[in-house]
Amino acid sequence: SVVPNLPTIDYNDLQIKDLIGVGGFGHVHYGKFGEVDVAIKTAKSLTSFNAIKRSPSYKTHSDGQSSTVHKNVIDGLLREARVFSNLKHPNIIQLFGVSSSIETNNLYLVMEYARGGALNQLLEKRQSGLYPNVFIYYAKQIADGIKYLHDESLGHIIHRDLKCSNILIFEDIENILDDSELLDKTLKITDFGLAEKQLQTSGVLTAGTYAWMSPECIRTNEFSTKSDAWSFGVLLWECLTGEIPYKGFDQPQVAYGIATNQYSLPIPSTCPEEFSQLMKDCWQINPEDRPTFSELYDQINTIIEEKYANNQL
Ligand code: ATP
Repeated sequence: SVVPNLPTIDYNDLQIKDLIGVGGFGHVHYGKFGEVDVAIKTAKSLTSFNAIKRSPSYKTHSDGQSSTVHKNVIDGLLREARVFSNLKHPNIIQLFGVSSSIETNNLYLVMEYARGGALNQLLEKRQSGLYPNVFIYYAKQIADGIKYLHDESLGHIIHRDLKCSNILIFEDIENILDDSELLDKTLKITDFGLAEKQLQTSGVLTAGTYAWMSPECIRTNEFSTKSDAWSFGVLLWECLTGEIPYKGFDQPQVAYGIATNQYSLPIPSTCPEEFSQLMKDCWQINPEDRPTFSELYDQINTIIEEKYANNQL
Protein backbone atom coordinates (compact mmCIF):
# COMPACT_ATOMS: atom_id res chain seq x y z
CA SER A 1 0.00 0.00 0.00
CA VAL A 2 1.23 3.53 -0.77
CA VAL A 3 0.09 4.68 2.67
CA PRO A 4 0.83 2.52 5.73
CA ASN A 5 -2.29 1.50 7.72
CA LEU A 6 -4.49 2.31 4.80
CA PRO A 7 -6.19 -0.05 2.35
CA THR A 8 -5.58 0.38 -1.34
CA ILE A 9 -8.89 0.58 -3.15
CA ASP A 10 -9.25 -0.93 -6.61
CA TYR A 11 -10.12 1.84 -9.06
CA ASN A 12 -12.66 -0.48 -10.70
CA ASP A 13 -14.64 -0.60 -7.44
CA LEU A 14 -15.16 3.17 -7.58
CA GLN A 15 -17.82 5.13 -9.38
CA ILE A 16 -16.92 8.79 -9.65
CA LYS A 17 -20.01 10.95 -10.01
CA ASP A 18 -20.93 14.63 -9.48
CA LEU A 19 -18.29 17.25 -8.73
CA ILE A 20 -19.17 18.65 -5.28
CA GLY A 21 -16.16 20.77 -4.37
CA VAL A 22 -13.33 22.58 -6.10
CA GLY A 23 -10.20 23.71 -4.26
CA GLY A 24 -7.05 25.35 -5.53
CA PHE A 25 -5.63 22.12 -6.93
CA GLY A 26 -8.11 19.47 -5.94
CA HIS A 27 -11.51 18.27 -7.02
CA VAL A 28 -13.96 16.52 -4.71
CA HIS A 29 -16.56 14.23 -6.28
CA TYR A 30 -19.54 12.39 -4.87
CA GLY A 31 -19.28 8.71 -5.73
CA LYS A 32 -19.80 5.07 -4.80
CA PHE A 33 -17.39 2.53 -3.38
CA GLY A 34 -19.34 -0.64 -3.95
CA GLU A 35 -22.69 0.15 -2.36
CA VAL A 36 -21.35 2.86 -0.05
CA ASP A 37 -21.70 6.61 -0.69
CA VAL A 38 -18.28 8.24 -0.62
CA ALA A 39 -16.53 11.52 -1.32
CA ILE A 40 -13.50 11.21 -3.60
CA LYS A 41 -10.74 13.80 -3.54
CA THR A 42 -8.40 13.90 -6.52
CA ALA A 43 -5.96 16.21 -8.28
CA LYS A 44 -7.50 18.41 -10.93
CA SER A 45 -6.93 16.40 -14.08
CA LEU A 46 -4.14 17.18 -16.52
CA THR A 47 -6.81 17.99 -19.05
CA SER A 48 -8.12 20.73 -16.80
CA PHE A 49 -4.61 22.12 -16.48
CA ASN A 50 -4.40 21.93 -20.26
CA ALA A 51 -7.67 23.83 -20.51
CA ILE A 52 -6.13 26.57 -18.37
CA LYS A 53 -3.11 26.47 -20.63
CA ARG A 54 -5.21 27.04 -23.71
CA SER A 55 -6.87 30.08 -22.21
CA PRO A 56 -5.49 33.41 -23.52
CA SER A 57 -4.25 34.50 -20.11
CA TYR A 58 -2.04 31.43 -19.79
CA LYS A 59 1.09 32.05 -21.83
CA THR A 60 4.07 31.42 -19.65
CA HIS A 61 3.79 27.74 -18.78
CA SER A 62 5.07 24.89 -20.88
CA ASP A 63 3.76 21.30 -20.91
CA GLY A 64 6.59 20.31 -18.62
CA GLN A 65 5.46 22.76 -16.03
CA SER A 66 1.85 21.60 -16.02
CA SER A 67 2.93 18.03 -15.36
CA THR A 68 5.22 19.27 -12.58
CA VAL A 69 2.20 20.97 -11.06
CA HIS A 70 0.27 17.72 -11.37
CA LYS A 71 3.05 15.77 -9.66
CA ASN A 72 3.19 18.28 -6.80
CA VAL A 73 -0.55 18.00 -6.31
CA ILE A 74 -0.29 14.19 -6.20
CA ASP A 75 2.51 14.46 -3.63
CA GLY A 76 0.28 16.76 -1.60
CA LEU A 77 -2.58 14.25 -1.72
CA LEU A 78 -0.27 11.47 -0.55
CA ARG A 79 0.92 13.58 2.34
CA GLU A 80 -2.69 14.36 3.23
CA ALA A 81 -3.53 10.64 3.13
CA ARG A 82 -0.67 9.78 5.50
CA VAL A 83 -1.90 12.21 8.17
CA PHE A 84 -5.56 11.42 7.53
CA SER A 85 -5.14 7.63 7.69
CA ASN A 86 -4.31 7.62 11.41
CA LEU A 87 -7.38 9.55 12.48
CA LYS A 88 -10.47 8.00 14.00
CA HIS A 89 -12.94 10.25 15.80
CA PRO A 90 -16.70 10.92 15.48
CA ASN A 91 -16.04 14.58 14.57
CA ILE A 92 -13.42 13.88 11.91
CA ILE A 93 -14.16 12.61 8.40
CA GLN A 94 -12.99 9.03 8.03
CA LEU A 95 -10.62 8.12 5.21
CA PHE A 96 -11.50 4.68 3.78
CA GLY A 97 -8.55 4.20 1.46
CA VAL A 98 -6.51 5.42 -1.48
CA SER A 99 -6.92 4.48 -5.11
CA SER A 100 -5.03 5.28 -8.30
CA SER A 101 -5.40 4.83 -12.02
CA ILE A 102 -2.73 4.63 -14.67
CA GLU A 103 -5.27 5.55 -17.29
CA THR A 104 -6.19 8.86 -15.67
CA ASN A 105 -2.72 9.35 -14.17
CA ASN A 106 -4.38 10.34 -10.92
CA LEU A 107 -4.72 9.52 -7.21
CA TYR A 108 -8.02 9.27 -5.29
CA LEU A 109 -8.63 9.70 -1.58
CA VAL A 110 -11.83 7.82 -0.77
CA MET A 111 -13.61 9.07 2.33
CA GLU A 112 -16.84 9.19 4.26
CA TYR A 113 -19.48 11.25 2.45
CA ALA A 114 -21.08 14.10 4.38
CA ARG A 115 -24.54 14.69 2.84
CA GLY A 116 -25.14 18.07 4.49
CA GLY A 117 -22.24 19.81 2.71
CA ALA A 118 -19.92 22.34 4.29
CA LEU A 119 -20.89 24.59 7.20
CA ASN A 120 -20.14 27.77 5.23
CA GLN A 121 -22.71 26.69 2.64
CA LEU A 122 -25.35 26.42 5.38
CA LEU A 123 -24.41 29.88 6.67
CA GLU A 124 -24.55 31.32 3.15
CA LYS A 125 -28.00 29.87 2.60
CA ARG A 126 -29.32 31.19 5.92
CA GLN A 127 -27.77 34.63 5.39
CA SER A 128 -27.44 34.93 9.16
CA GLY A 129 -25.56 33.36 12.03
CA LEU A 130 -26.58 30.25 13.94
CA TYR A 131 -28.91 30.41 16.94
CA PRO A 132 -26.93 30.48 20.22
CA ASN A 133 -28.04 26.98 21.11
CA VAL A 134 -27.02 25.48 17.78
CA PHE A 135 -23.84 27.54 17.83
CA ILE A 136 -22.62 26.22 21.16
CA TYR A 137 -23.34 22.56 20.31
CA TYR A 138 -21.49 22.95 17.01
CA ALA A 139 -18.58 24.69 18.78
CA LYS A 140 -18.39 21.75 21.18
CA GLN A 141 -18.18 19.17 18.39
CA ILE A 142 -15.46 21.02 16.49
CA ALA A 143 -13.46 21.61 19.69
CA ASP A 144 -13.78 17.90 20.49
CA GLY A 145 -12.32 16.94 17.09
CA ILE A 146 -9.41 19.39 17.33
CA LYS A 147 -8.70 18.38 20.93
CA TYR A 148 -8.28 14.85 19.60
CA LEU A 149 -5.97 16.00 16.76
CA HIS A 150 -3.80 17.98 19.17
CA ASP A 151 -3.46 15.05 21.53
CA GLU A 152 -0.01 13.78 22.39
CA SER A 153 -0.86 10.25 21.27
CA LEU A 154 -1.10 11.44 17.65
CA GLY A 155 1.98 13.67 17.90
CA HIS A 156 0.07 16.94 18.24
CA ILE A 157 -1.34 17.30 14.74
CA ILE A 158 -1.94 20.89 13.73
CA HIS A 159 -4.76 21.34 11.25
CA ARG A 160 -3.56 24.74 9.90
CA ASP A 161 -6.63 25.40 7.81
CA LEU A 162 -9.59 25.56 10.20
CA LYS A 163 -12.55 27.41 8.73
CA CYS A 164 -16.23 26.77 8.11
CA SER A 165 -15.62 25.51 4.57
CA ASN A 166 -13.60 22.65 6.08
CA ILE A 167 -16.34 21.64 8.53
CA LEU A 168 -18.88 19.25 7.03
CA ILE A 169 -22.40 18.39 8.14
CA PHE A 170 -22.78 14.64 8.15
CA GLU A 171 -26.55 14.30 7.84
CA ASP A 172 -28.78 15.56 5.04
CA ILE A 173 -30.15 19.03 5.84
CA GLU A 174 -31.85 19.72 2.52
CA ASN A 175 -35.41 19.76 3.81
CA ILE A 176 -34.86 21.39 7.16
CA LEU A 177 -37.40 24.15 7.74
CA ASP A 178 -37.01 24.62 11.46
CA ASP A 179 -33.71 25.61 13.08
CA SER A 180 -34.36 23.29 16.00
CA GLU A 181 -33.70 20.42 13.58
CA LEU A 182 -30.09 21.58 13.21
CA LEU A 183 -29.44 20.82 16.88
CA ASP A 184 -28.75 17.12 16.54
CA LYS A 185 -26.58 17.23 13.43
CA THR A 186 -23.05 15.82 13.49
CA LEU A 187 -20.15 17.99 12.34
CA LYS A 188 -16.97 16.50 10.92
CA ILE A 189 -13.67 18.20 10.27
CA THR A 190 -12.02 17.62 6.91
CA ASP A 191 -9.14 18.77 4.67
CA PHE A 192 -5.86 17.56 6.11
CA GLY A 193 -3.98 18.91 3.09
CA LEU A 194 -1.98 21.27 5.27
CA ALA A 195 -2.05 19.30 8.51
CA GLU A 196 1.21 18.17 10.04
CA LYS A 197 2.62 16.94 13.30
CA GLN A 198 4.00 19.73 15.43
CA LEU A 199 7.53 18.31 15.45
CA GLN A 200 7.65 17.94 11.70
CA THR A 201 6.87 21.52 10.80
CA SER A 202 8.71 21.97 7.58
CA GLY A 203 8.16 25.67 7.19
CA VAL A 204 7.63 25.25 3.47
CA LEU A 205 3.88 24.89 3.72
CA THR A 206 2.08 28.06 2.99
CA ALA A 207 -1.27 27.71 4.56
CA GLY A 208 -4.74 28.92 4.25
CA THR A 209 -6.33 32.18 3.68
CA TYR A 210 -5.08 35.17 5.64
CA ALA A 211 -8.43 35.98 7.24
CA TRP A 212 -8.19 32.80 9.37
CA MET A 213 -4.45 33.03 10.09
CA SER A 214 -2.94 34.30 13.32
CA PRO A 215 -0.55 37.28 13.27
CA GLU A 216 2.50 35.09 14.02
CA CYS A 217 1.58 32.68 11.20
CA ILE A 218 1.44 35.50 8.69
CA ARG A 219 4.64 37.08 9.98
CA THR A 220 6.84 34.03 10.49
CA ASN A 221 4.98 30.91 9.33
CA GLU A 222 4.92 29.65 12.94
CA PHE A 223 2.01 27.24 13.07
CA SER A 224 1.14 25.64 16.38
CA THR A 225 -1.80 24.26 18.32
CA LYS A 226 -2.25 27.89 19.39
CA SER A 227 -2.52 29.14 15.82
CA ASP A 228 -5.32 26.56 15.37
CA ALA A 229 -6.98 28.24 18.38
CA TRP A 230 -6.83 31.61 16.61
CA SER A 231 -8.45 30.11 13.48
CA PHE A 232 -11.10 28.46 15.67
CA GLY A 233 -11.98 31.94 16.96
CA VAL A 234 -12.50 33.11 13.36
CA LEU A 235 -14.59 30.01 12.66
CA LEU A 236 -16.78 30.81 15.70
CA TRP A 237 -17.16 34.36 14.36
CA GLU A 238 -18.34 32.96 10.98
CA CYS A 239 -20.92 30.81 12.79
CA LEU A 240 -22.20 33.71 14.90
CA THR A 241 -22.42 36.33 12.19
CA GLY A 242 -23.02 34.19 9.10
CA GLU A 243 -20.53 36.48 7.34
CA ILE A 244 -17.26 36.00 5.48
CA PRO A 245 -14.32 37.52 7.42
CA TYR A 246 -12.80 40.60 5.75
CA LYS A 247 -15.06 40.23 2.74
CA GLY A 248 -14.26 42.75 0.03
CA PHE A 249 -10.75 43.46 1.35
CA ASP A 250 -7.85 42.42 -0.82
CA GLN A 251 -5.45 39.74 0.40
CA PRO A 252 -2.30 41.86 0.92
CA GLN A 253 -4.36 44.35 2.91
CA VAL A 254 -5.79 41.60 5.14
CA ALA A 255 -2.34 40.05 5.63
CA TYR A 256 -0.80 43.37 6.62
CA GLY A 257 -3.68 44.37 8.88
CA ILE A 258 -3.62 41.10 10.83
CA ALA A 259 0.18 40.77 10.96
CA THR A 260 0.49 44.24 12.49
CA ASN A 261 -2.43 43.68 14.91
CA GLN A 262 -4.34 46.55 13.36
CA TYR A 263 -7.31 44.48 12.23
CA SER A 264 -9.73 42.51 14.33
CA LEU A 265 -13.15 41.12 13.50
CA PRO A 266 -16.07 43.08 14.96
CA ILE A 267 -18.07 41.12 17.53
CA PRO A 268 -21.76 42.08 17.23
CA SER A 269 -23.16 43.87 20.29
CA THR A 270 -25.95 41.27 20.46
CA CYS A 271 -23.45 38.45 20.94
CA PRO A 272 -23.84 36.67 24.32
CA GLU A 273 -20.99 37.62 26.64
CA GLU A 274 -19.73 34.06 27.09
CA PHE A 275 -19.40 33.61 23.32
CA SER A 276 -17.49 36.85 22.82
CA GLN A 277 -15.18 35.77 25.66
CA LEU A 278 -14.40 32.53 23.77
CA MET A 279 -13.42 34.47 20.66
CA LYS A 280 -11.37 37.02 22.58
CA ASP A 281 -9.47 34.20 24.30
CA CYS A 282 -8.65 32.67 20.91
CA TRP A 283 -7.51 36.05 19.59
CA GLN A 284 -4.93 36.82 22.27
CA ILE A 285 -1.92 38.36 20.53
CA ASN A 286 0.53 36.20 22.46
CA PRO A 287 -0.01 32.55 21.39
CA GLU A 288 0.85 31.36 24.92
CA ASP A 289 -2.11 33.30 26.28
CA ARG A 290 -4.59 31.44 24.07
CA PRO A 291 -6.40 28.44 25.55
CA THR A 292 -5.59 24.84 24.61
CA PHE A 293 -8.39 22.88 22.96
CA SER A 294 -8.75 20.88 26.13
CA GLU A 295 -9.49 24.16 27.92
CA LEU A 296 -11.76 25.38 25.13
CA TYR A 297 -13.71 22.14 25.22
CA ASP A 298 -14.16 22.41 29.01
CA GLN A 299 -15.10 26.09 28.73
CA ILE A 300 -17.75 25.26 26.11
CA ASN A 301 -19.14 22.44 28.25
CA THR A 302 -19.43 24.78 31.21
CA ILE A 303 -21.37 27.27 29.06
CA ILE A 304 -23.67 24.46 27.94
CA GLU A 305 -24.24 23.24 31.51
CA GLU A 306 -24.96 26.73 32.78
CA LYS A 307 -27.18 28.03 30.00
CA TYR A 308 -28.07 25.52 27.33
CA ALA A 309 -28.49 22.23 29.11
CA ASN A 310 -32.13 21.80 28.10
CA ASN A 311 -30.98 21.66 24.46
CA GLN A 312 -33.88 23.67 23.08
CA LEU A 313 -34.01 26.78 20.94
P1 ATP B 1 -9.62 24.09 -0.34
O1 ATP B 1 -8.73 24.65 -1.40
O2 ATP B 1 -10.91 24.87 -0.14
O3 ATP B 1 -8.95 23.78 0.97
P2 ATP B 1 -9.50 21.32 -1.12
O4 ATP B 1 -9.17 21.05 -2.53
O5 ATP B 1 -8.42 21.15 -0.11
O6 ATP B 1 -10.19 22.72 -0.94
P3 ATP B 1 -11.52 20.13 0.54
O7 ATP B 1 -11.47 21.36 1.40
O8 ATP B 1 -11.13 18.84 1.16
O9 ATP B 1 -10.69 20.34 -0.79
O10 ATP B 1 -12.98 20.01 -0.06
C1 ATP B 1 -13.57 21.04 -0.85
C2 ATP B 1 -15.09 21.02 -0.71
O11 ATP B 1 -15.60 19.75 -1.17
C3 ATP B 1 -15.61 21.16 0.71
O12 ATP B 1 -15.75 22.52 1.11
C4 ATP B 1 -16.97 20.45 0.62
O13 ATP B 1 -17.94 21.32 0.06
C5 ATP B 1 -16.69 19.33 -0.37
N1 ATP B 1 -16.29 18.09 0.36
C6 ATP B 1 -15.05 17.72 0.71
N2 ATP B 1 -15.04 16.54 1.35
C7 ATP B 1 -16.32 16.13 1.44
C8 ATP B 1 -16.98 14.99 2.03
N3 ATP B 1 -16.29 14.03 2.67
N4 ATP B 1 -18.32 14.91 1.93
C9 ATP B 1 -19.02 15.88 1.31
N5 ATP B 1 -18.47 16.99 0.75
C10 ATP B 1 -17.15 17.13 0.80
